[in-house]
Amino acid sequence: MVGKSLSTLYDFYSVQITNSLLSLDRQHVWHPYSAIQADTPIYLIKSAQGVQITLMDGRILIDGMSSWWSAIHGYNHPVLNQAVERQLQDMAHIMFGGLTHQPAIELASELVRITPEPLKTVFFSDSGSVAVEVAIKMAVQYWYAKNQPQKNKMLTIRYGYHGDTFGAMSVSDPDNGMHSLFNATLAQQFFADAPECGFHQDCRAEDIAPLEAQLKVNHTRIAAVILEPIVQGAGGMRFYSPEYLRRVRELCTEYKVLLIIDEIATGFGRTGKLFACEYAEISPDILCLGKALTGGYMTLAATLATTEIATGISEGEPGLFMHGPTFMANPLACAVALASLKLLLGSPWRENIKKIEQALQAGLIPCQQLAQVKEVRVLGAIGVIEMHRPVDMKTLQPQFVEAGVWVRPFNKLIYLMPPFVISATELNKLIEAVVMVVAGMEINAP
Ligand SMILES: *Cc1c(COP(=O)(O)O)cnc(C)c1O
Repeated sequence: MVGKSLSTLYDFYSVQITNSLLSLDRQHVWHPYSAIQADTPIYLIKSAQGVQITLMDGRILIDGMSSWWSAIHGYNHPVLNQAVERQLQDMAHIMFGGLTHQPAIELASELVRITPEPLKTVFFSDSGSVAVEVAIKMAVQYWYAKNQPQKNKMLTIRYGYHGDTFGAMSVSDPDNGMHSLFNATLAQQFFADAPECGFHQDCRAEDIAPLEAQLKVNHTRIAAVILEPIVQGAGGMRFYSPEYLRRVRELCTEYKVLLIIDEIATGFGRTGKLFACEYAEISPDILCLGKALTGGYMTLAATLATTEIATGISEGEPGLFMHGPTFMANPLACAVALASLKLLLGSPWRENIKKIEQALQAGLIPCQQLAQVKEVRVLGAIGVIEMHRPVDMKTLQPQFVEAGVWVRPFNKLIYLMPPFVISATELNKLIEAVVMVVAGMEINAP
């Protein structure tokens, strides 16, 4: 009896604590793309282990998001924990100006080794958006050093997403990013219509024509083309043909414009290749990496460049690359990134992703029959259900949680990108939950 009433008392207090924390959260804490005092659901997390997320109230959710592409090995991984703990014994951080350290050197060498051949230098920064800022600055500074300062604009395609800082925003989809709101402060770049050809379709002349037309007219003002390879992520979860990317590479070379490839979402196996640009067998002049770089442990990003770009910048005016974040090449982040890469490359990741792809195809494609569903797309460990209408997060989010899964839809898209270590049983539970919730959604097709 006493035991029971004590545990009831405990539950009572833990509910009180949870509620007061959530109330403080609503008052003081901004969340991604959110409002203060929002009435959208928010959940207090206790811990995460493997592919399971434990809420404060004890409910356990299967993770379908990998914390936005990053936690590819799942949470609380002993090998990654150990890498952080070991590095902590030496130092958590040290400035990178005039000083260097083994984790940064080894990580840079490893990134150069596993990325396409001509990429030879690595600039570390703290987030994907900053890696994109750095890439844009490199492209502009390269042409400045080559006495062509008028080549300072970017060209990109619609539905792209490259981050939330000003340079990155200026090359992200103008409608998704509400660019009109920031018009006065945002750099004006060149945009071309995105290709219509899906991953398995042929790239036709009309798919590449818009980008080609922009290059033809404006190449003397364009420093670089920037785009996400094969998979456009947060801008619409669209997949396009490798042939398109091959044509983009050819056109950049033909019009003497650099190619910046943003693999921040696609990198480290997510699409079924280690890097998505491998589908097109091309290499960029500048490459951005982030998200899964540290296996989701710490924030770290990298901008890689070819020797041509690096020496062009270093040998021209002003003779230095003008960027240097305070927390550049944080040793804890570099150490865990090295451990994450070793873990990935030492695992049967191709087979794991193939199995995830097959399960996503088998489980999600039947949703295409539903009237409320516009299209289902699967590539590698990414599954996307595109609805006809934007989903109502306020009602949908609790349904997913009730079904025991963590899925975070946006706009018309319900999508899955689970950690690569997810078991067949967990993956099936995740897929079944999503199919059940989607099937139960109102038939709101136009
Ligand atoms: C997430 C993302 C970014 C921005 O990275 P942050 O770490 O959120 O700044 C840039 N490009 C792509 C393709 C992304 O998916």
